[in-house]
Parts: sequence; C-alpha cells; structure tokens
Amino acid sequence: MDHNQTTGAAGESYPSTRRIQRLSGHLSPSEHIHPSIPPQLRLQACARVNLEVDTEKLSVYMRGKHRELQDKVYEYFNSKPELKTPLEISKDDHRELCMRQLLGLVREGGIRPFCHVFDDPGKYFALLEAIGSVDMSLGIKMGVQYSLWGGSVINLGTKRHRDKYFDAIDSVEYPGCFAMTELHHGSNVQGLQTVAKFDPLTDEFVIDTPNDGAIKWWIGNAAVHGKFATVFARLILPTHDARGTTDMGVHAFIVPIRDMKTHQTLPGIEIQDCGHKIGLNGVDNGALRFCSVRIPRENLLNRFGDVSRDGKYTSSLPTINKRFAATLGELVGGRVGLAYSSVGVLKIAVTVAIRYSLLRQQFGPPKQPEVSILDYQSHQHKLMPMLASTYAFHFATLHLVEKYSEMKKTHDDQLVSDVHALSAGLKAYITSYTAKSLSACREACGGHGYAAVNRFGSLRNDHDIFQTFEGDNTVLLQQVAADLLKQYKEKFQGGTLAVTWNYLRESMNTYLSQPNPVTARWEGEDHLRDPKFQLDAFRYRTSRLLQSAAVRLRKHTKTLGSFGAWNRCLNHLLTLGESHIESVILAKFIEAVQRCPDPSTQAALKLVCDLYALERIWKDIGTYRNVDYMAPNKAKAIHKLTEYLSFLVRNVARELVDAFDLPDHVTRAPIAMKSDAYSHYTQYVGF
Ligand SMILES: Cc1cc2nc3c(=O)[nH]c(=O)nc-3n(C[C@H](O)[C@H](O)[C@H](O)COP(=O)(O)OP(=O)(O)OC[C@H]3O[C@@H](n4cnc5c(N)ncnc54)[C@H](O)[C@@H]3O)c2cc1C
Repeated sequence: MDHNQTTGAAGESYPSTRRIQRLSGHLSPSEHIHPSIPPQLRLQACARVNLEVDTEKLSVYMRGKHRELQDKVYEYFNSKPELKTPLEISKDDHRELCMRQLLGLVREGGIRPFCHVFDDPGKYFALLEAIGSVDMSLGIKMGVQYSLWGGSVINLGTKRHRDKYFDAIDSVEYPGCFAMTELHHGSNVQGLQTVAKFDPLTDEFVIDTPNDGAIKWWIGNAAVHGKFATVFARLILPTHDARGTTDMGVHAFIVPIRDMKTHQTLPGIEIQDCGHKIGLNGVDNGALRFCSVRIPRENLLNRFGDVSRDGKYTSSLPTINKRFAATLGELVGGRVGLAYSSVGVLKIAVTVAIRYSLLRQQFGPPKQPEVSILDYQSHQHKLMPMLASTYAFHFATLHLVEKYSEMKKTHDDQLVSDVHALSAGLKAYITSYTAKSLSACREACGGHGYAAVNRFGSLRNDHDIFQTFEGDNTVLLQQVAADLLKQYKEKFQGGTLAVTWNYLRESMNTYLSQPNPVTARWEGEDHLRDPKFQLDAFRYRTSRLLQSAAVRLRKHTKTLGSFGAWNRCLNHLLTLGESHIESVILAKFIEAVQRCPDPSTQAALKLVCDLYALERIWKDIGTYRNVDYMAPNKAKAIHKLTEYLSFLVRNVARELVDAFDLPDHVTRAPIAMKSDAYSHYTQYVGF
C-alpha cells in the first residue's frame, strides 16, 4: 500500500487517516467542518466579513505621505494640454515633447526632483511614479537625468563634483547620460572593455573604445539631448615594471559629449541613434564610441578610488571587487524606482480592467438581464488575485523605499546588503508580474482593450523593458538566491542574519523536522485565514528550497566546479529567489493590515491579503502536497476558499480600485472613466 495515499477507491478514509482527521478536529483552532458540507455553508464566516469599504479612509491609508507632491505634478500637466502626449506621434516628435515636458515641469512647474534623490528618496520615488503615469517615457527620461546621470555624479563623486554639477543637473542645464552598457556586455558589468588610461604628462585620462563590442549602447539621452555622460571604463594606470600598465577595474568618469553652446558632438566622440524601439520612444537612446577623448583628472568620480597627480592610486577599500561592489551598491536607487513605478503601472492597468469589467455586460440567465462580465468566476479568477497582488506590492515597495531611505542616512553595512538583495528581488518579481498582468488586463477587456486610447498597448510596450534594464530580472533573482545562501552558510557558522532574513532561523528549524501531520489536515476557515498559517507556509517553502539548494550545490560543485554547479541548479535557485520575495511581500502586507487603525478598512485589507496569500499557496499546491505539508482535503479547502474570497473581493472591487485614487487623466482610458464610460468612448471615436 502507498503510505501517502489517504483515501480508498470509493473515497472513504483509511482508518489511520480517519484517526488523524478526528484528532486534528479536536485540536483545530476553528470548528472542524466536515468536507461534505457545501462550500457556501463552510464559508459562512466569510460572509460575515464586513464588506463595507470606505474608499476615502482606505485611500488615505494607502496614499502615504507624498500625495500632495504628486498632485502638483497632475495639476501642472492638467494646466498644460499642449504638453499632453498624443496617441499618434513620431519618434522624433515624441523625444522633443518629452524634453519639453521635463523642462516645463522643472523650470515652469517648479518641481525639482533632484534634491529628493538624496535628502528624501520617498519623495523622489513618489514624483517618479506620478510623472511616469503621465507618460512613461517622461518618467524614464527623468530617471536618466536625475537618478542615473545625476545620481552617479553625486553618489560616486565627491564634494568637487557636487559643487560643480549639482545645480546645472537640477535645472537640466546639463542634460546627461549614464553610459555603462556596451554592445558585448550588459549584465556582466565587470566585463566592460572601454578604457580610461591616465596620462601623467598632461594630467588627463584618455578614454577609448578598443573594439566595436565596447561601443556604449542603449544610452538614454545620448542620441539627441545629452551634453555629458558618466562613462564606466577600466581605469588603466602606468607602472614602472615590465607590463607598463595596471588595470584597476571599472571606474566612472564624467565625459562631456556635446558642446555646451553649439550642441555639436565633441572631437573624438561618435554618436549614433539606437532607433525606433518597441516602446519608450520619447527617450533618445544612443550609442557612443570614444577615440582618444581627453578629460581632466578631476573628472574621475573618486569616492571609492582616486588617482594622484603622479599617477598613484588610493582607496579606502582594499580590493577591486570591494570597490566594484561599493560602486554598484550606490546605484540600487534605480531599481527601487523601477519596482515602485511598476506598481504604479499595475494600478493603472488593474483600474482600467476592473472598472470596464464591472460595466461590461455579456450573456445572462434566460429572459433576464445580461450580467457584468466580472460576475463570471473565470473573470474574477483573472482579475481579483491581481488586484490583491497590487495591494501586496504597494505595501512591499513602501517598505523598500523606507529601508532604502534609512540606508542612505545610516550607511549601515548590514542594511546596505539587505537593501541590495531586497531591491533586486522586488524589482525582478514585481516587474515580471506587471508585464504579464498587462496582457491579462488587455485580454480581460476584450476588443475594446485593444484600442490604443484605452492605454494597454502603450503601458505594455513602455513597461516591458522594466524587466531588463537596471538589471535583467533573471540575473537579479540569482543575486537574491546567492544572498540567501550566504546567510544560510553564516547561520550554520553561528553568525547573525540580516533583518529581512531573520525568519529563516526559526523556519529552517521547523523545516528540518517533518511537516506536522495534524496541522496538515486543519482546513477550518479561521485556520486558513490565520496570518501565522499563511506566513509559515510561505516561509516553509523558502526554507525547504534553500536547504535543498545548498545540498545540491555542495554535491555538484565537487564534479562541476562552482560555476557549473550553479548552472546545474539555476532553475531551483530562481524559484528560491522568488519564493523568498513572496514571503517578504506577504509579511509586509500582513504588517500593513495589522497596523491599519480603522476597523472596517482593516477588514477590507485583511480580505485582500488573505486572497493574496491563499491564491499563491494554491498556485504552488504541488510543492506542499509533495511533502504532505498539506493533506488533500486541506488543498481542496484552500482552492474553494480562494474562489470564494475572489467573489467577495469582486463585491468591493470598485471601492478597492477607487482607493488607489488615480485621477481620471492618469487612467485616461475612456472605458475606465468613472461615469458613463461608453459615452466617453463613442465621443472619442467621433460620434
Ligand atoms: C530602452 C533601454 C534603455 C536603456 N538605458 C540604458 C542606459 O541609459 N544606460 C546603460 O548603461 N544601459 C542602458 N540600457 C541597457 C540595459 O541596462 C541592458 O540591456 C541590461 O542591463 C541587460 O543587458 P543585455 O541587454 O546585455 O542583456 P544580456 O545580459 O545579454 O541578457 C540577455 C538574456 O540572457 C540572460 N542571461 C544573461 N546572463 C545570465 C545569467 N548569468 N544567467 C541566466 N541568464 C542570463 C538574461 O536573462 C536575458 O534574458 C538600456 C536598455 C534599453 C533596452
């Protein structure tokens, strides 16, 4: 007999299983409900949930501290119809419009995002979200100017750079680029080949592109508007030995690329246009080639390593690897911004899809009115977990921004590594999720979702590259897995765990013992909706994946070496990274529910949080079943409860999307307007 089998052919339990079921019934924290009781009755407790949602209160709780700042952005663009991006626009016109939008916002609208990059990142990211929702190209153009170009100058440079460049970057007098990626090297930044050789005779660096593979590629602001670029290049210093030079690794340099007055490309620099893209055509991406371009020594961004007049290298960090890590560590703000903005995009898409689905009616019972398409279980299944995920990501990214801001203030080493992994993981997980959801939302709106005016096309195309730039998602998730393995090793060597990882201490121990056969059978609603059960399940999965990944890596390293072993376990490691990030997201959501001061708002959030948790568990039910962490009836109960919670969330879906508080001109899609959507739409077509 198969010992894992719990029921006979006719479906009746084996005696041992029945004993355990009975026992678990006694121990269950909720009343034990027999599986034969229909779901509607089992779920009576759910129906007792207070479904009154006060949109205003929920919105105030969600909105955070910086709504006024975002409103200033919306007001500015509302007052400037000539700056609105039309649906049909050529690449060149879009680029010019985008520059006018940025200049207008900064110089006329008085919105100055640059100082917030350093003094209050939360404000900066809130601005980025609002500006990106007006036109995503504008959000990215602003990110290139302030976060990438400006951020690299201030974070990697020292006082002399701040004094010279800050004001002109702030006012966009110095539009600039961030030139890291090359034709042959994107993700592998340590493989960059552009060189910056120190010439002690003239006290200059000479920047060169040694081969076509080293041409800087995809550089935002380079094709048309940029006057400067932060160029990442290998620092080459002369030595007095037989080799003649030493490669000090990748460093960053400020290189002027166009004349300040004439805007002509400067001598030794060749600029080409990367051309028309799938999306983000308001951003002028270009390619840069350098041929003996001379820049003064002080243009080295010298916070982590400096070169003296006589060509001596000094650094407070002992190795090339440490300097490289410190340099890249200063650039994680870009990832935080993308994760945050991606949630903003998801909010827009979910709002459009849900408002439309509530309004749209197709079919119905015989001789009765047609029903809203959101009354179909399949439609609820498509959109309600997505709505729940949007809420979950909202709180997770707020947490990320808080941690990032704290890190910028304290420079605490532990926090730096924590934020590095957290930003990599959340950026990868959220942008991948949003990219898939944009297609699902389009499809959920049928043919009308395909009209460009309803926004899904531009949102999807513009957002798609979020999965790749600022770190490819597959590469970033590996950084999360690597960090977990490092923590795991430290744990077994008696070290301390980073704050975000703390839970592993407890759950690893739980994992090392067998799943509890009693709790594996609890299926009462109170138990399934208990945050402890949900979080334990998420964390159990992560701990298990971590433990087995460590064992597999150790085994394969003996024969394949560390690179080969990593590759042999790569899919496993990516699942581990995702699983950990999901645990963090759920933990932050649960905390946000518990913190909520208003009881009815808290009840609404709890409902959405339960849907998020149970749907994720159900999606991965095979993992839990394989190790008997959940018995078959418990799995079934989770499925039914997930469907029911989707139904309950559907009943308050309008309030839940309204609480995102997106102004109409942000959702903009006629099919999503709050009142009389069809007439907005027919008017747009010209009736
Ligand atoms: C619109 C746009 C704007 C950009 N703006 C800028 C800019 O302003 N400045 C700048 O410097 N760069 C910019 N970039 C470049 C961007 O940062 C890179 O494209 C990105 O880092 C990915 O590098 P890559 O294109 O070389 O991809 P690759 O690294 O070649 O990746 C290709 C594929 O291989 C997979 N892969 C790679 N390595 C691994 C691995 N170790 N394990 C498993 N799979 C792997 C990836 O998952 C991916 O699917 C921009 C790109 C675009 C498209």
